[in-house]
Amino acid sequence: MQITMPRHACQAGLLALLICYGASAQTPAVSASPLAAVGEIDVGGIDVGDIDILAYTATIEPRVAEGEVVGEERIRFVARRDGVRQVRFDRGALEIGAVTDAHGARLTFDTPPRTLSVILPRPLRDGEPYELRLDYRGRPTHGLQFDPARRESYTIFSTSQWLVCVDAPHERATLDLTLIVPAGSVSAANGRHSASRSLGDGREAHRWRLTRDTPSFLYGFAIGPYREWRDARLRPQLRALSIDRTPEELSAIFAETRGMIAFFQVRAGIAYPGRTYTQVLVSKTAGQEAAGLAFLSEEEGEAVLTTPDRIGLIAHEIAHQWWGDLLTCRDWGHFWLNEGFATFMAAAYREHRDGRAHYDAQVARWRDRVERLRADGRDRPLVYPEWNRPTADDRAVVYQKGAYVLHLLRETLGEDAFWAGVRDYTRAHAGSSVATVDLQRAMERASGQDLQAFFDAHAGPAAGSSLPAPE
Ligand SMILES: [Zn+2]
Repeated sequence: MQITMPRHACQAGLLALLICYGASAQTPAVSASPLAAVGEIDVGGIDVGDIDILAYTATIEPRVAEGEVVGEERIRFVARRDGVRQVRFDRGALEIGAVTDAHGARLTFDTPPRTLSVILPRPLRDGEPYELRLDYRGRPTHGLQFDPARRESYTIFSTSQWLVCVDAPHERATLDLTLIVPAGSVSAANGRHSASRSLGDGREAHRWRLTRDTPSFLYGFAIGPYREWRDARLRPQLRALSIDRTPEELSAIFAETRGMIAFFQVRAGIAYPGRTYTQVLVSKTAGQEAAGLAFLSEEEGEAVLTTPDRIGLIAHEIAHQWWGDLLTCRDWGHFWLNEGFATFMAAAYREHRDGRAHYDAQVARWRDRVERLRADGRDRPLVYPEWNRPTADDRAVVYQKGAYVLHLLRETLGEDAFWAGVRDYTRAHAGSSVATVDLQRAMERASGQDLQAFFDAHAGPAAGSSLPAPE
């Protein structure tokens, strides 16, 4: 699958990101795979320091045949300083119809590229809450996929292509999402399914509520005539959806999911952060995590069915429920904390499942990739703020080198201190944003070692540059 970047991408600060990619022995190297170049996210140039988003409430209708999305939305936020008069959001290519206050009074707004800028009727005081209402429509070229032949639509990463929001990963809010779907459709989205009702016109409204503050890039949904497999015996409840596969096949494809969750819970030192974990096989994706949800391709599902050892991508996405979702990189410069961790943890699961030789073989492949980067002059520190339009080599830094550096840390600290540090890091920052220095401090606490030289060597000078000093 090819990315077609808008021509203005660089100037606008759009960031093409490789979305999740498994690290199993069966999964080819990122740079070698046609599946690698997938995913695009609008990071938005928006400084959201003036406000804190509390909640998005939206009703959206993805019209699969038309390739169009229509939405109504409420955004609740609070001012973080006195005198906030103008607020801005990312809107992708969505066209804004009207913006009002909570009482329906129209507000003045402007739509510079990819941005919605709203003038408030009066300045807000520090701590004052406010609610905007708006409606919009659009024909996303990315971020929301439509497959009319399958009567399916699903999200890929760029949330502001289907919901006006703040794309920045450190901005967390709740999401109350009502999907308008053709009658008989099955849906999956973040959080709990709270209700479905018929609209009496061949459509249904499916309401999903995500009550844990979550970065918007982890919002997502899928709609289609899916067949479904469920395992509700234990928490979290497991759910898998597919158009091509039967429930029995889904049960086989995702047979190890509960064991993977159990393994990562122990490694994280914290329980799976939700009631349900849903895996959806969609028409095309390289694999993508969302809150309580993962998207994999039908092709991947078929491959797992015929090669039961092919578990890397499923494990990678599950690992993201902790490293990526529960703890999220504060900005994209620290993206390796999401992807390096998920890649490393998938290999750690493989070691747990099949023995050390499988882990060592994976480490050797990471090391080879890092050595090739060095030989080609393409090696970079793990943290680099100017990461605007990553190449395949840049992605290898974040994924393979990131995982390899975690392996080196494990070798440096020894088993007990390393895994204690992982648990400390995960527990201490659950539900918040992280920078690389947070991992360094946790590992230093667990080991009693000064790791400045290690992190300087691998993460680079930007690893903690804009963070306040640790306590
Ligand atoms: Zn990933």
